[in-house]
Amino acid sequence: MVALRIRPINDAEIEEGASIVAHKVDDQMVVILDPSEDPDDILRANRSREKTFVFDVAFDHTATQDDVYVATTKNLIEGVLSGYNATVFAYGPTGAGKTYTMLGIDSEPGIYVRTLNDLFNSIEASSDHMAYDVSMSYLEIYNEVIRDLLNPASGFLDLREDAKGGIQIAGITEVSTNNAEEIMELLTKGNRERTQEPTAANKTSSRSHAVLQVTVKQKSRIKNINEEVRIGRLFMIDLAGTERASQTQNRGKRMKEGAHINRSLLALGNCINALSEKGSNRVHYVNYRDSKLTRLLKDSLGGNSRTVMIAHISPASSYFEESRTTLIYADRAKNI
Ligand code: ADP
Ligand code: MG
Repeated sequence: MVALRIRPINDAEIEEGASIVAHKVDDQMVVILDPSEDPDDILRANRSREKTFVFDVAFDHTATQDDVYVATTKNLIEGVLSGYNATVFAYGPTGAGKTYTMLGIDSEPGIYVRTLNDLFNSIEASSDHMAYDVSMSYLEIYNEVIRDLLNPASGFLDLREDAKGGIQIAGITEVSTNNAEEIMELLTKGNRERTQEPTAANKTSSRSHAVLQVTVKQKSRIKNINEEVRIGRLFMIDLAGTERASQTQNRGKRMKEGAHINRSLLALGNCINALSEKGSNRVHYVNYRDSKLTRLLKDSLGGNSRTVMIAHISPASSYFEESRTTLIYADRAKNI
């Protein structure tokens, strides 16, 4: 499933004289207008200045956090409780609203907290025959290195394969509170530990992927020594900004960061492409091993897993190029 969210235009954009170029047409359709006007460019004049894109669902500034949660993520919960894996991505350039959608703000919590709330409510309402154990971890992938956002002092963590071939993060903090306020506090604090997460005052691009991993272990309460444990895993990922190194004119260290980000995003894009061409006659090898992000998600992309991508754009003319690229990428991801 691919969703598209257009955030509200902000004061800074209005002050800069930006106009609104991205609009929601209906619940699935988005239109973007090329703001560049050059009457001498005959080729451009002959091309349509408007491009429309259709997604599973489209949101604009009128959408609430709950609208976005209900239409994208809420119905993954049942599957995760039954032992299936799922992944939700926030995709888009820095400043387009990814962290707002996933983490949100205290008064408007995002998908992380809403999902965990509903997960705990479902478990409480579930039958007496089942026992559930829910735990979560919050980590960052930055320059192909994994850091524990709930315990940043623990240094770099490694991915390991367990006996069943499942991927584990060695030494990561696992928390199992079901108190929504406590969760929001933990995640907000963790988010501040992200490498270069931009704040309102600091608009540098965000180069890390933040991953909230929720694991649900299920076992039967009926007395039986061989009780089966089913494990469902949900990844909710606030991806690094997708702006290109060339666009941000990075040099030196930044260039290297850009290359690594491209490695994880590129590997993700390659996996998504390979998965989306499954239906064709050719056999497409899905190479998960190319980056930390795709290795971590090996069992949660494709197959029986459900994948939701929420692409984000600003409506402002100053973001036109990034928005156009994001729309094209999200459009391709629809084929999964
Ligand atoms: P990103 O994580 O993609 O870099 P942010 O989520 O940090 O972008 O959003 C940039 C700014 O815009 C933040 O100040 C955020 O609070 C605000 N913002 C983003 N989306 C919305 C929205 N849907 N409604 C209100 N404010 C938003
Ligand atoms: Mg962010």
